[in-house]
Order: sequence, then structure tokens, then C-alpha cells
Amino acid sequence: MTIAMYPGSFDPVTNGHVDIIQRAAAIFDKVIVAVAVNSKKKPLFNEEERMELLRQSVRHISNVSVVKSEGLTVDFARKHDAKVLVRGLRAVSDFENEMQISGINRHIDPGIETIFITADSAYNFLSSSIVKEAASFRADISKLVPPPVQEAIKQKF
Ligand code: ADP
Repeated sequence: MTIAMYPGSFDPVTNGHVDIIQRAAAIFDKVIVAVAVNSKKKPLFNEEERMELLRQSVRHISNVSVVKSEGLTVDFARKHDAKVLVRGLRAVSDFENEMQISGINRHIDPGIETIFITADSAYNFLSSSIVKEAASFRADISKLVPPPVQEAIKQKF
């Protein structure tokens, strides 16, 4: 049984994230979505809200669970028996940062492998930040985020 962990801030989860989760869930026996608590960024949604929105958005995928992640990602992955870290790659701009993160993770624990799933062309412009910015100007984000997120963002702005 191969368990994969998909770590991120998910502030909030977008259709791009859900697409990666769905595709990872088709490859691995189990996918654990790990919601970062100690994010450097000041989040719009607190960790409980981010986890709840994720849970509602992946309800239709049976082998996915959502947990709160604290501390080092590789330590957390090992604690959950996850041997693989999944990250999404959108543009070249993601690449440098992701190479650095996967490099340090591999340095700390070579037993945990990072794999990248490339963004679907429908979502390669999509990020949580761009969704928040668009929503703050009342733009229609219905095609960019799962319905529960659309509702939750409305409440924030
Ligand atoms: P982080 O703050 O750790 O980058 P994010 O929630 O922004 O967390 O993203 C989590 C992961 O999902 C990252 O690997 C990111 O590149 C990827 N990701 C974000 N948006 C998309 C998207 N639209 N398509 C594919 N992957 C994405």
C-alpha cells in the first residue's frame, strides 16, 4: 500500500488543487492532504476553515483524508507512513521554489520521494491568491473553486 501526502496552505482550496488530489488518488492507494498551520503568509481562512472546505470539496473521493500538519513536512509524512510527497507544478515560476523544497526534504529524509503532477491546462493560471484577489473585486469565481469555497469567500468579502 503506497500512501501519498499532498502538503499545502490551501487558503482556500481551488479547483486546481482538487484536480491534483483527484489525479493523485487515482495513482496512490491513499492520499493525505496536509494543511499547513505554520504558514508564513497571513491566511484569509484559519486552519479549521481550510480543512473543512477541503473535506467538503473532496468528499466524492473515497481514498482521501484531510489532516492538520505541524512541523517538518517529512517528519509528518513519516508519522503517517507516507513515502511520497505530491506537489503540483503550474508554470516555470513554480519550478525553482519546488526544486528547493524537494531538495531540502530529500536532504532531511532521502526515504521520502517528491513527485510532481503538472497542472491541467484549465487551471495553470489558478492560485489561491488570485482567487482571493478576484473575489475581493466581486469577480465571478464559480468556475475556479468548489461551491463551498465560493460561499465561504462571499462571507469574507
Ligand atoms: P503552498 O503555500 O505550500 O504553495 P498551496 O496551497 O499554494 O500551498 O499549493 C499546494 C500545492 O498545490 C503546491 O504544490 C502548488 O504548486 C500546487 N497548486 C496550487 N494551485 C495549483 C493549480 N492550479 N494546479 C496545480 N497545482 C496547483
